[in-house]
Amino acid sequence: MAQSRSGARQPLSVTKPKLAAQKPVQQPAGTAGSAAAPTSPKRKTTRTYGLKPSQRAAPVAHSPRTMAEKRALALVVLERLKAEYPDAHCELDHRNAFELLCATILSAQCTDARVNMVTPELFARYPDAQALRAARLEDVEAIIRTTGFFRAKAKSLVGMATALVDRHGGAVPRTIAELVPLPGVGRKTANVILGNAFDLNEGIVVDTHVQRLARRFGLTREPDPIGIERALMPLFPQQDWALLSHLLIWHGRRTCTARKPACGACVVQDVCPSAGRAD
Ligand code: SF4
Repeated sequence: MAQSRSGARQPLSVTKPKLAAQKPVQQPAGTAGSAAAPTSPKRKTTRTYGLKPSQRAAPVAHSPRTMAEKRALALVVLERLKAEYPDAHCELDHRNAFELLCATILSAQCTDARVNMVTPELFARYPDAQALRAARLEDVEAIIRTTGFFRAKAKSLVGMATALVDRHGGAVPRTIAELVPLPGVGRKTANVILGNAFDLNEGIVVDTHVQRLARRFGLTREPDPIGIERALMPLFPQQDWALLSHLLIWHGRRTCTARKPACGACVVQDVCPSAGRAD
């Protein structure tokens, strides 16, 4: 059983270590092909995935196949990441649901750090839906320009604020069904708001990091975020859904990055089927 930095690890089935390459048997002259020549037992060919011999010596976890295997792996990953990132949280600065909604709309195709640079001025000028609804588009565009796609985002922000005032008395609604029709809001944004502003676990936020890690763990092969969310929901306890997204996002940003995953420093290396061979 492997040990982690964060404590004892749960066992999970892994494939046997790779067999050493077998040397050809030297036959005495004149006996080659004779009936008396000893025959070696047939050995199963193993795939090396381009790993160096030192890497191949370590056991490689297999991809989970059944729901039971996927659940077992999911729980190990969840507990390990909880221990590794005890402070995992939403990295968009906000003080209430309205601010988080604005920040999440701005975070499309943009880093959280960049969004956090513009939101203090935005929230100071437009502290609530009523104020943002009355804003001039050009003024909003000037504040959020550096987040990219600023014209479309300014339109979404003012449109969202208008819809909040017209349909919800200026308050941010608490259901996916009411959030998704708002301008600039999709299922991912709705899940961010529900999970972080209201502590409601109605769904799982599936961003680019969650998509990548779910596939690397072999938990799903679904190609789109909706399918991935549907596949992950039965694998993880519902009360952890919001936290799960933060954990996967933190792990994806810090260790299991898209281009160069640091498998050697990863706390789930021994149970990850992509360890040492992530694409
Ligand atoms: S860093 Fe490597 S071992 Fe860790 S989750 Fe990513 S692919 Fe798996």
